[in-house]
Amino acid sequence: MKINGSCFCGSVRYHIEGKLRDARSCHCSMCRKAFSAQASAYALLETEEFSWVNGEGLLTSYESKNGAGLLFCSICGSTLCGTYEGKVHGVTLGCVDGDPEIELGMHIFVGSKASWEIIPEGVSQHEKWPPKKT
Ligand SMILES: [Zn+2]
Ligand SMILES: [Zn+2]
Repeated sequence: MKINGSCFCGSVRYHIEGKLRDARSCHCSMCRKAFSAQASAYALLETEEFSWVNGEGLLTSYESKNGAGLLFCSICGSTLCGTYEGKVHGVTLGCVDGDPEIELGMHIFVGSKASWEIIPEGVSQHEKWPPKKT
């Protein structure tokens, strides 16, 4: 499928020729800061299926110590993508335009959620990571 995304000011746009997977919301204290929200809403993709449409030169990045990073629009501050070792490996669901035909499949790190957050019922919640699939 074709998925498009853009930042708040519209300067940065991307295109995905493929599917998103593993949509999750993480409630850890780092995601709260990184996404300026109660939690992250994020889905993974195949790096080869992702391309910038315009505004790539306006991106700014923040890389944390473990190789994971985030890409932002330097004009409006939207967080668009997560990277791993410099490659785009997922997108923030908030910047996806239209219906990406995926729903949040899990809430993770609910053990460290903000005291003021109420997580809706109906989607699986995990204290930290979900149990490994066997
Ligand atoms: Zn922007
Ligand atoms: Zn997190």
